[in-house]
Amino acid sequence: MTNDQNTKPLRILIWNEFRHEKSNPTVKEIYPEGIHAAIKDGLQSRLGDSATIDCATLDEPEHGLTKERLASTDVLFWWGHMAHDEVTDEIVDRVQSRILAGMGLVVLHSGHASRIFQRLMGTGCMLRWREAAEKERLWIVNPAHPIVAGIEDEFFELPHTEMYGEFFDIPEPDELVFISWFAGGEVFRSGCTFRRGAGKIFYFRPGHETYPIFHNDMIRRVLANAAQWARPDAGTYRGEARQIENPLEDLT
Ligand code: ZN
Repeated sequence: MTNDQNTKPLRILIWNEFRHEKSNPTVKEIYPEGIHAAIKDGLQSRLGDSATIDCATLDEPEHGLTKERLASTDVLFWWGHMAHDEVTDEIVDRVQSRILAGMGLVVLHSGHASRIFQRLMGTGCMLRWREAAEKERLWIVNPAHPIVAGIEDEFFELPHTEMYGEFFDIPEPDELVFISWFAGGEVFRSGCTFRRGAGKIFYFRPGHETYPIFHNDMIRRVLANAAQWARPDAGTYRGEARQIENPLEDLT
């Protein structure tokens, strides 16, 4: 029996607000084509023909997230930072509906404060932070999880990162995959999964725009695994109330 679910190419859409790369020379040097282009390269190099990958950005009509485009997306990646407030209610509603119906979502770094992530979590999703180019050690705390498939070490490190520290104001994650330790002493739940409706959500902390995080091979590996993990399941989502017959009437 063929399982279409796993033989059809995975349809990935990478969304980036695409602002820092245009205004900050440091960011432009690291990501001349935009952060989304680097994420796309990383995913394409790992997933090859098993995925089709497109990009969308904030300044496109409807932020590049038309109904048709979302309807043909299996997994949406989200990078935003300085323009969260420019994402309209209509698009937040639309993306949320697609996630509830089964589309996967991978929220990156400062996307913790995006309107869509806050909507899905129902909390402020705030945290402590410091930008001091310090070392981050990402401990794998769920080594059997598909998101860390193929990673045999117990941790990996990024030499220079922006620090995010607890308390991270999110609901209790369904699963923790990574906990980060920083040279300055803080810790952070840096890889968390959630389900909302039929949709799978992965929040992954690394990705500050002034460091070459999305060129890092381990990061690319995690993102490719996350895309595959977040693929919609085969079941049918019923997101409506239904009034049903009273079975007791037949029994009296
Ligand atoms: Zn940052």
